[in-house]
Amino acid sequence: AFDVLVVGGGPAGAAAAVYAARKGIRTGVAAQRFGGQVLDTMSIENLISVPHTEGPKLATALEQHVKEYDVDIMNLQTATGLERKGDLVEVTLESGAVLKSKSVILSTGARWRQMGVPGEVEYKNKGVAYCPHCDGPLFKGKRTAVIGGGNSGVEAAIDLAGIVSHVTLIEFDTKLRADQVLQDKLKSLPNVTIIMNAATTEVTGDGAKVNGLAYRDRTTGEDHHIELEGIFVQIGLLPNTDFLKGTLDLTPRGEIMIDAHGATSMEGVFAAGDCTTTPYKQIVIAMGLGATAALGAFDYMIRSSVQ
Ligand code: FAD
Repeated sequence: AFDVLVVGGGPAGAAAAVYAARKGIRTGVAAQRFGGQVLDTMSIENLISVPHTEGPKLATALEQHVKEYDVDIMNLQTATGLERKGDLVEVTLESGAVLKSKSVILSTGARWRQMGVPGEVEYKNKGVAYCPHCDGPLFKGKRTAVIGGGNSGVEAAIDLAGIVSHVTLIEFDTKLRADQVLQDKLKSLPNVTIIMNAATTEVTGDGAKVNGLAYRDRTTGEDHHIELEGIFVQIGLLPNTDFLKGTLDLTPRGEIMIDAHGATSMEGVFAAGDCTTTPYKQIVIAMGLGATAALGAFDYMIRSSVQ
């Protein structure tokens, strides 16, 4: 059995593996895709002390750092189940294999919900963005849209309005769902237009970059096109925790509930990064939480009777 088994190989999982391995304990990482969301990212400019890097480069660096230690990396492995059995925790993989460990760190991350319209995938990282903290500054002085009028959409629009020249917020429904205080703030900004009851139908571009957005007015059925350079999609961040339903405490949105040590509601099981209740989902935060969960797991092990 492992001492620490990390499930997920993004920034959180890599940090957890390095911290655990440095305690000289048996450490394993099972990951569907080592590198995680970072693999889908182009420019990264907010990993402190690294002014600029690219996603694939960072993913390689994460793996190399983990490989400096005696860590059993099981890439292309998907966890489908988690169960506490006696003194151990068992993780079932899609292959049918069962991995046993004294402690487990869940770091399965999250994924942005996509609009599913033509052009969205084609222009991802070429004008279509999902994270205003990450990519907002890349659109300085340009025209952008935010899709979604929930808290994250309205927060993104307020944030972007301070950086870009103009923000169009597009909401599918007839009302914004964000907190009233955020709506009031948004409506007070001079460079924001809000369009309600509008279904985005297409992301348009010149082949290299986004140049606009098409939407249908759901009241009149009329089609419109807005010229712009950037589109931030804010219609939900989905934690990769479906396989955990019914095993440990999740929020209604599926985030794993953790305490300050990264501990979950299941004994011996810790969690870190975007799959948890941490309010901000960023690389530097995921790494910090991965380190926290590994130290939490180590503390748990030295206090438990399991040998
Ligand atoms: P993830 O990176 O999502 O990694 C999850 C890991 O778990 C992966 O290895 C995955 O394959 C694996 N996994 C999932 N389910 C299972 C399962 N059932 N079994 C086994 N393994 C599983 N943040 C920044 O700080 N700066 C940026 O500039 C930035 N830009 C971004 C740009 C884009 C396009 C995106 C999508 C995100 C960006 N982010 C950025 C956010 C950042 O990538 C995440 O906050 C960070 O990757 C979270 O790390 P994580 O380890 O928690 O999860």
